[in-house]
Amino acid sequence: MGQVIDRSPELVARIQEHYRMLDEHRPLRPTLGNDMQIFYMRDRQTFTFLMFPELLDMAYQTARIIGEKFIAPYLTGKTLPEIMLSNQPIAAQHGYAIQEIVECREDFAIYRNYECADCYGMPNIGMKICAYEAGTAAGCFETPLGRPVEVRETKCCANGDDYCEFEVRVLDK
Ligand SMILES: [Zn+2]
Repeated sequence: MGQVIDRSPELVARIQEHYRMLDEHRPLRPTLGNDMQIFYMRDRQTFTFLMFPELLDMAYQTARIIGEKFIAPYLTGKTLPEIMLSNQPIAAQHGYAIQEIVECREDFAIYRNYECADCYGMPNIGMKICAYEAGTAAGCFETPLGRPVEVRETKCCANGDDYCEFEVRVLDK
Protein backbone atom coordinates (compact mmCIF):
# COMPACT_ATOMS: atom_id res chain seq x y z
CA MET A 1 0.00 0.00 0.00
CA GLY A 2 2.80 2.39 0.93
CA GLN A 3 4.44 1.91 -2.46
CA VAL A 4 1.42 3.35 -4.25
CA ILE A 5 1.83 6.68 -2.56
CA ASP A 6 5.63 6.52 -2.85
CA ARG A 7 5.07 6.64 -6.61
CA SER A 8 3.48 10.05 -6.11
CA PRO A 9 6.21 12.00 -4.28
CA GLU A 10 4.94 15.27 -5.75
CA LEU A 11 1.47 14.67 -4.29
CA VAL A 12 2.87 13.83 -0.84
CA ALA A 13 5.14 16.90 -0.90
CA ARG A 14 2.27 19.13 -1.97
CA ILE A 15 -0.04 17.93 0.79
CA GLN A 16 2.75 18.27 3.36
CA GLU A 17 3.10 21.87 2.13
CA HIS A 18 -0.66 22.32 2.70
CA TYR A 19 -0.23 21.21 6.33
CA ARG A 20 2.65 23.69 6.71
CA MET A 21 0.32 26.42 5.44
CA LEU A 22 -2.23 25.33 8.04
CA ASP A 23 0.40 25.61 10.79
CA GLU A 24 1.31 29.09 9.58
CA HIS A 25 -2.34 30.17 9.30
CA ARG A 26 -1.96 30.70 5.56
CA PRO A 27 -5.13 29.61 3.72
CA LEU A 28 -4.82 27.28 0.74
CA ARG A 29 -7.60 28.96 -1.24
CA PRO A 30 -7.03 32.69 -1.60
CA THR A 31 -10.68 33.74 -1.42
CA LEU A 32 -12.60 30.94 0.34
CA GLY A 33 -9.91 29.79 2.77
CA ASN A 34 -9.88 26.27 4.21
CA ASP A 35 -13.27 26.07 5.91
CA MET A 36 -16.38 24.72 4.23
CA GLN A 37 -19.71 23.23 5.17
CA ILE A 38 -19.00 19.68 6.42
CA PHE A 39 -22.30 18.31 5.09
CA TYR A 40 -20.95 18.00 1.54
CA MET A 41 -18.02 15.80 2.46
CA ARG A 42 -19.92 13.63 4.88
CA ASP A 43 -22.90 13.13 2.59
CA ARG A 44 -20.55 11.89 -0.11
CA GLN A 45 -18.84 9.41 2.15
CA THR A 46 -21.99 8.27 4.01
CA PHE A 47 -23.81 7.37 0.80
CA THR A 48 -20.65 5.82 -0.63
CA PHE A 49 -20.38 3.49 2.39
CA LEU A 50 -24.13 2.81 2.44
CA MET A 51 -24.15 1.75 -1.21
CA PHE A 52 -20.74 0.04 -1.19
CA PRO A 53 -19.99 -1.14 2.38
CA GLU A 54 -17.04 -3.11 1.07
CA LEU A 55 -15.28 0.25 0.65
CA LEU A 56 -15.06 0.75 4.44
CA ASP A 57 -11.90 -1.33 4.53
CA MET A 58 -10.50 0.56 1.54
CA ALA A 59 -11.11 3.82 3.39
CA TYR A 60 -9.38 2.42 6.49
CA GLN A 61 -6.31 1.35 4.51
CA THR A 62 -6.21 4.64 2.62
CA ALA A 63 -6.41 6.63 5.83
CA ARG A 64 -3.50 4.68 7.33
CA ILE A 65 -1.30 6.34 4.70
CA ILE A 66 -2.74 9.76 5.60
CA GLY A 67 -2.01 9.11 9.28
CA GLU A 68 1.51 7.97 8.54
CA LYS A 69 2.46 10.74 6.11
CA PHE A 70 0.62 13.78 7.42
CA ILE A 71 -0.38 13.31 11.08
CA ALA A 72 2.47 11.23 12.54
CA PRO A 73 5.00 14.08 12.01
CA TYR A 74 3.01 16.18 14.53
CA LEU A 75 3.13 13.57 17.28
CA THR A 76 5.63 13.20 20.10
CA GLY A 77 6.39 10.40 22.53
CA LYS A 78 7.58 6.83 22.24
CA THR A 79 4.91 4.81 24.04
CA LEU A 80 1.25 4.46 23.03
CA PRO A 81 0.02 6.57 26.01
CA GLU A 82 2.51 9.36 25.19
CA ILE A 83 1.72 9.29 21.47
CA MET A 84 -2.06 9.27 22.02
CA LEU A 85 -1.81 12.15 24.47
CA SER A 86 0.06 14.25 21.91
CA ASN A 87 -2.55 13.35 19.26
CA GLN A 88 -5.60 14.00 21.45
CA PRO A 89 -5.89 17.82 20.99
CA ILE A 90 -5.47 17.70 17.18
CA ALA A 91 -9.04 16.50 16.52
CA ALA A 92 -10.57 19.53 18.26
CA GLN A 93 -7.96 21.94 16.83
CA HIS A 94 -8.91 20.81 13.33
CA GLY A 95 -12.64 20.90 14.13
CA TYR A 96 -13.05 17.18 13.55
CA ALA A 97 -14.21 16.01 17.00
CA ILE A 98 -13.68 16.36 20.72
CA GLN A 99 -11.49 13.44 21.68
CA GLU A 100 -11.35 11.73 25.06
CA ILE A 101 -8.92 8.96 25.97
CA VAL A 102 -10.89 6.53 28.15
CA GLU A 103 -8.20 3.97 28.81
CA CYS A 104 -4.61 3.65 27.61
CA ARG A 105 -1.95 1.03 28.25
CA GLU A 106 1.23 0.15 26.33
CA ASP A 107 -0.56 -2.11 23.86
CA PHE A 108 -4.27 -1.31 24.17
CA ALA A 109 -6.40 1.81 24.37
CA ILE A 110 -9.96 3.04 24.08
CA TYR A 111 -10.81 6.55 22.98
CA ARG A 112 -14.02 8.41 22.15
CA ASN A 113 -14.82 11.13 19.65
CA TYR A 114 -17.69 13.45 20.52
CA GLU A 115 -19.44 15.59 17.88
CA CYS A 116 -17.65 13.66 15.13
CA ALA A 117 -17.64 15.52 11.79
CA ASP A 118 -18.31 12.26 9.95
CA CYS A 119 -21.32 10.92 11.86
CA TYR A 120 -22.69 13.21 14.59
CA GLY A 121 -26.45 13.71 14.15
CA MET A 122 -26.92 10.72 11.84
CA PRO A 123 -29.85 8.37 12.44
CA ASN A 124 -29.09 4.72 13.14
CA ILE A 125 -28.22 3.30 9.71
CA GLY A 126 -26.75 0.17 11.26
CA MET A 127 -23.19 0.96 10.21
CA LYS A 128 -20.05 2.23 11.90
CA ILE A 129 -18.81 4.60 9.23
CA CYS A 130 -15.78 6.38 10.69
CA ALA A 131 -13.26 4.22 8.85
CA TYR A 132 -11.17 7.22 7.85
CA GLU A 133 -10.76 8.21 11.50
CA ALA A 134 -9.85 4.64 12.53
CA GLY A 135 -7.33 4.30 9.69
CA THR A 136 -5.76 7.69 10.30
CA ALA A 137 -5.32 6.81 13.98
CA ALA A 138 -3.76 3.45 13.12
CA GLY A 139 -1.33 5.05 10.67
CA CYS A 140 -0.25 7.86 12.96
CA PHE A 141 0.21 5.59 15.99
CA GLU A 142 2.07 2.78 14.24
CA THR A 143 4.60 5.09 12.59
CA PRO A 144 6.27 6.39 15.80
CA LEU A 145 5.78 3.03 17.56
CA GLY A 146 7.42 1.05 14.76
CA ARG A 147 4.82 -1.69 15.31
CA PRO A 148 1.56 -2.37 13.48
CA VAL A 149 -1.54 -0.93 15.12
CA GLU A 150 -5.15 -1.93 14.55
CA VAL A 151 -7.94 0.53 15.33
CA ARG A 152 -11.55 -0.65 15.30
CA GLU A 153 -14.62 1.54 15.71
CA THR A 154 -16.93 -0.12 18.27
CA LYS A 155 -19.51 2.68 18.70
CA CYS A 156 -20.69 5.23 16.15
CA CYS A 157 -23.42 7.88 15.93
CA ALA A 158 -24.49 6.23 12.65
CA ASN A 159 -25.01 3.00 14.59
CA GLY A 160 -27.28 4.37 17.33
CA ASP A 161 -24.61 5.58 19.77
CA ASP A 162 -24.14 9.09 21.18
CA TYR A 163 -20.44 9.19 20.31
CA CYS A 164 -17.82 7.19 18.43
CA GLU A 165 -15.60 4.82 20.37
CA PHE A 166 -12.45 3.15 19.09
CA GLU A 167 -10.32 0.28 20.34
CA VAL A 168 -6.59 0.51 19.65
CA ARG A 169 -4.43 -2.62 19.61
CA VAL A 170 -0.67 -2.65 19.19
CA LEU A 171 0.28 -5.84 17.38
CA ASP A 172 3.51 -7.78 17.23
CA LYS A 173 5.81 -6.98 14.31
ZN1 LIG B 1 -18.53 7.24 14.04
